[in-house]
Amino acid sequence: MIGTNKCPVCGKTYLYEYEICPVCGWENDPIQMDKPDLEGGANRMSLNQAITAYKKGEKLKKKKLNEDVIVMASEPLKDYEFEDIQCLVHKTIETEALVNLYAAVFNEFFWVEDNEYDFPKGTPEYAEACRITDQWGALMDELEERLMRIASDAGLLLPREPNSGTVKQMGPFMKKYGYVNANGW
Ligand SMILES: [Zn+2]
Repeated sequence: MIGTNKCPVCGKTYLYEYEICPVCGWENDPIQMDKPDLEGGANRMSLNQAITAYKKGEKLKKKKLNEDVIVMASEPLKDYEFEDIQCLVHKTIETEALVNLYAAVFNEFFWVEDNEYDFPKGTPEYAEACRITDQWGALMDELEERLMRIASDAGLLLPREPNSGTVKQMGPFMKKYGYVNANGW
């Protein structure tokens, strides 16, 4: 399958409208294509800022999740230690509890991932922010894998589409437990 236009940032992929480039992370927003200095469309950066960042080998800044998602107005698992949540995940076998943990860990991952942008690359603070993000990311993946098996057994897992990820596949399953994805569960 081939998208409608070349990624305006990296030029390495063809994207549909509003598809996120798997290479550079740019979301193919036609309005920002038209207005390359407009910030805060589908992307946090303007197109020109993103092009400059990409050329310098920097990651594109992602939209802050709390800009448009009420539930993410504060850090989801702020008062918990990672190790405690990890331990809980490993002890939990009940599906609904796993779903709740997955949603919380997913939201926490995207929350902490955003911290990476607060520090310059190469600093110890940046490395620490990356370590924390990776930790939550690994736990999120682990939970997702377990839940996808459960969802599949329950006949609630959508087939994988070329332009969307596992989150979309899990939609009907998560909905059963009261979760809808809006850049966070
Ligand atoms: Zn790209």
